[in-house]
Amino acid sequence: MNQPVSSCTPTSQAEWQALTDKLTLEGRAYLNGAYQWAASGGTFTSISPIDGRELTAIASCDQSDADQAVMAARSAFEAGIWSQLAPAKRKAVLLRFAELIEAHGDELALLETLDMGKPISHARNVDVPATARAIRWTAEAIDKVYGELAPTPHNQIGMISREPMGVVAAIVPWNFPMIMAAWKIAPALATGNSVILKPSEKSPLSAIRLAALAEEACVPAGVFNVLPGYGHTVGRALALHMDVDCLVFTGSTNVAKQLMIYAGQSNMKRVWLEAGGKSPNIIFADAPDLKKAAAEAASAIAFNQGEVCTAGSRLLVENSIRGEFVELIREALKTWRPGHPLDPATTCGAIVDQAQLDRIIDYIGIGQSEGARLVEGGQRILENTGGLFVQPTVFDGVNNQMRIASEEIFGPVLSVIGFDTADEAVRIANDSIYGLAAAVWTSNINTAHKVAKALRAGSVWINHYDGGDMTAPFGGFKQSGNGRDKSVHAFDKYTELKATWLVLE
Ligand code: NAD
Repeated sequence: MNQPVSSCTPTSQAEWQALTDKLTLEGRAYLNGAYQWAASGGTFTSISPIDGRELTAIASCDQSDADQAVMAARSAFEAGIWSQLAPAKRKAVLLRFAELIEAHGDELALLETLDMGKPISHARNVDVPATARAIRWTAEAIDKVYGELAPTPHNQIGMISREPMGVVAAIVPWNFPMIMAAWKIAPALATGNSVILKPSEKSPLSAIRLAALAEEACVPAGVFNVLPGYGHTVGRALALHMDVDCLVFTGSTNVAKQLMIYAGQSNMKRVWLEAGGKSPNIIFADAPDLKKAAAEAASAIAFNQGEVCTAGSRLLVENSIRGEFVELIREALKTWRPGHPLDPATTCGAIVDQAQLDRIIDYIGIGQSEGARLVEGGQRILENTGGLFVQPTVFDGVNNQMRIASEEIFGPVLSVIGFDTADEAVRIANDSIYGLAAAVWTSNINTAHKVAKALRAGSVWINHYDGGDMTAPFGGFKQSGNGRDKSVHAFDKYTELKATWLVLE
């Protein structure tokens, strides 16, 4: 097993590079307590978007690995080695898991950066702590959850309890590989389920490494399994599996819809979906601090290269300040210039792969052909590095019917849309198939609350963008999904409610 690669976090690109050179990359699946290659022997190559370098071979799991993993997960569940453990004991193991994630923070951050291109400073200071925090918070909560007694007649007792679902398959995306995994595996494990995690084929390294840390924390064999591979092979096999009780997913709306079909075609497994977004960020002329609003609007589209489900990709600006505000955004975006992801000063990294870069460049072309005004960026850059980089891009004069305003791009491309009244802003904001998040900036408390109430979104932020912590549920309205990650509400997804009724003699 790998030891922590460093006790002292690097502070320069050269030091991170030196650490990279020492890394041993694991590409095998983790199944029933051991690393192993796919039963078929199939592999695919993980390629770094930073420079096109081949990182390592990854097990390409398929149906037979899914069958094996489900069998192992089921027998661990039935044996009760985890599912029947006292919540306080599961808590202790998960707390140790969180500690190990922190102890291996440099290594995990590096895996994330090499695999999907995000800046190392964000991987180290955002992704790693948020992953550990999600597991710790959830573990801390699990031995404080009580059942209920129904208000029965005197001679009867109605007990309402929560039981684990059984075997949970978690399918996650590549934009925040560890955080998205932690939001699923923490409540799934805490509530006593056995879990099979399928990371994205674009970013499997950190999930594979997490398996060893879970083992070191004493999660029993079979309780936590990691199957790397493609969506249409191992993902589909898990989603169609007759012995998976619950399928949790974060990813695109198209795949989310497909998973609902798979559940209907198989065993009606519970399906919980966190899907896409096209979030409106609404700036009124009376916003308390336009410079701060512009700085956060820039971050809302450029952080993580815009590959964020809650990216503030539709910027609705009151027309009386639109020109001024667009200039403030352009100024703020100067601090989001793409650079080498291993340089700790870099704020904007590489795009995850060629297909995603092509998609972003295509949408920039679509915006121009639709008649939107390109006012910032628009180009692929740093091509000579072999890496996949694009400038943060701003279109002004966008209308909400244009494809750049209605379709999720999942890159640093901002659409600025003007409005004149609060009603118009709300109408435009809600005119979307998505409903993940929204923000409103105003000094007027009535406007703030009226607009926040009217917005059809799972998260609404007032005078800031992307707030919240583990105490707040996260998820979407409409085609952004169903169910909620984070907070005690997440336990709903991983438990069945049971009513046990007793009539006293
Ligand atoms: P994606 O839907 O292409 O893939 C997500 C996962 O599903 C991957 O592991 C993939 O292998 C798997 N998959 C693909 N096809 C499958 C199939 N037929 N059966 C089973 N599994 C399949 O999404 P992505 O490109 O990895 O991630 C980007 C998307 O994720 C964006 O739409 C973004 O908005 C969304 N996202 C949502 C949230 C949220 O919390 N709502 C958070 C992060 C990302």
